[in-house]
Amino acid sequence: KEIAKNVVKSTPIEISATKIMAIADYPETISKVKDIVDGIGLLRMEFLVLRNRKHPRWYLDNNRLDEFTNMIEERLEEILRIIYPKTVIVRTLDMRTDEYKNLEGGEKEPIEANPMIGWHGIRRDLDQDAIFRAEIRAFKKLIKEKGFNNLWIMLPFVISWEEVYRAKQIIKEEGLIPGKDVKVGIMVETPAGALTIEDIIKNAGIDFISFGTNDLTQLTLGVDRNNELVQKLMDEGHPAVLELVSRVISICKKYNVYTSLCGQAGSRPDYAEKLVRFGIDSISVNVDAIELVREVVLRTEKKILLDSMYKYNK
Ligand code: PEP
Ligand code: MG
Repeated sequence: KEIAKNVVKSTPIEISATKIMAIADYPETISKVKDIVDGIGLLRMEFLVLRNRKHPRWYLDNNRLDEFTNMIEERLEEILRIIYPKTVIVRTLDMRTDEYKNLEGGEKEPIEANPMIGWHGIRRDLDQDAIFRAEIRAFKKLIKEKGFNNLWIMLPFVISWEEVYRAKQIIKEEGLIPGKDVKVGIMVETPAGALTIEDIIKNAGIDFISFGTNDLTQLTLGVDRNNELVQKLMDEGHPAVLELVSRVISICKKYNVYTSLCGQAGSRPDYAEKLVRFGIDSISVNVDAIELVREVVLRTEKKILLDSMYKYNK
């Protein structure tokens, strides 16, 4: 649950080279932080569409996807308007089958042994492409008819360039040209996505990436996020996770792909410092961590600059 009440508005802010974005889903929260962030780095479609207690598959099963599109358009417009012209990165549906079962239509969700690594993210978007297309149609209206050029599309749980290629084809079929009308990027949150990032860039083409360190850590370390017995092993700072993160940033830099992070690790000051040193372009943080992370990022950037000047003068 988001708590924006602790946010202290301290304008004018000192602008860091590394952008600080917020993880936020509700207009009320976004209104409170809009002046102290560089944008919204993670807006989860689930939170946008579940407020009327209906599961997305209800719209699909009842042939009412137009209503789904209209709802997305209306709710997203409010958010895009509040923070315009700052960017809002919208993640397409990433619902796991064990979540939201109590909503209308949710009872039809399949039962999976391990939903964390099951039918969600881009694989589900592509399997149930009618729902994905309905989302894209809402984006198209907002971008092409209403001029909201601050919306970026982010695809979750990618494991291969083929998935991204296919998703971009669908986006094009629905009337938006990726890279021209809208920036399209992916979450790097599986080891497969991280290790094949160069193929994804070369074969599918992306405008940006954002690390999902919650899943990336879970899958790299083999630690179930939902299993309390192994919670103590969940460490985003594990050398294996950091190696994947730094490698992906280097490769993205080579191809001019914008890099970002939207997992919980970004709200940790020690982690933010590492990310700045790796050369990340933006970090998304929980609303109550914005100011602290901005401070650490500024301090780190200054330190890097002074160190390089010192080396240069030696
Ligand atoms: C992540 O995996 O880090 C992430 C941001 O996505 P979620 O927590 O929704 O899986
Ligand atoms: Mg994730």
